[in-house]
Amino acid sequence: MKKRVSILNVPIHDVSLAETAAAAREAVLNGKRLRVVTANPEMICRAASETGLRAAVAGADLVTADGVGVLWAARRLGQPLRERVTGIDLVQALFQVGGGMGWRVFLLGGRPGVAAEAAARQSALYPGLVFEYAHGYFAPEEEEALTERIRAFRPQVLLAGLGAPRQEIWLDAHMDLAAVSIGVGGAFDVLAGRKKRAPLWIQRAGCEWLYRLIREPGRFRRQWVLPLFVWRVMRECYGRGTT
Ligand code: UDP
Repeated sequence: MKKRVSILNVPIHDVSLAETAAAAREAVLNGKRLRVVTANPEMICRAASETGLRAAVAGADLVTADGVGVLWAARRLGQPLRERVTGIDLVQALFQVGGGMGWRVFLLGGRPGVAAEAAARQSALYPGLVFEYAHGYFAPEEEEALTERIRAFRPQVLLAGLGAPRQEIWLDAHMDLAAVSIGVGGAFDVLAGRKKRAPLWIQRAGCEWLYRLIREPGRFRRQWVLPLFVWRVMRECYGRGTT
């Protein structure tokens, strides 16, 4: 069992990107299930008040630290985590692993056309992978046909880019569809080449969130939760006597 750190009552595993990818490979090879949640400060805050999300996170096999805010909180709480494991980094690591083994990958989510573009672009990069896809704006009455389509495809990997917390709750309710399932947020836009990630030096400086905020100012209204996250972590530090 991997070491876990509790941040605002959300357990985060102290795993590296390489360990997470290795766990996924093992799950596929041994016919087990691995559901991964990549938790950012926004998700951790929402889990406090949203029961469905809290249950979906608690039931995940691996919860990774998605973002510098989570690493900062773990450090403040006196239990540092080794590194952040974001959805997009994990996906790219998995494509490398699965490319040599002919894995089937289902991309579910994003605006119409985006998952298709992502599948085309990634299969050119990883010819060993087989892709299938569906956009993320399906009506409730279409859901059954969609899950049947995914089941018939028998994917080793199911990536849900439906936005948090919907993707976490959806994957929790559809555990049986793939060996490895991961909520990846807006990653299909990057896989499709529609959006660029921050340059590596910005990622390494821990400023990818700022880069995204500048390029997508619309994200600003979601960021109100960050001061709340900081305040709650500091309050927990004082409560635990770690400050
Ligand atoms: N999305 C979707 N269906 C919906 C709502 C959102 O497929 O009903 C997709 C949206 O197109 C986008 C992604 O969810 O690609 C955004 O997810 P999130 O905001 O969690 O991503 P982040 O920007 O934090 O990576």
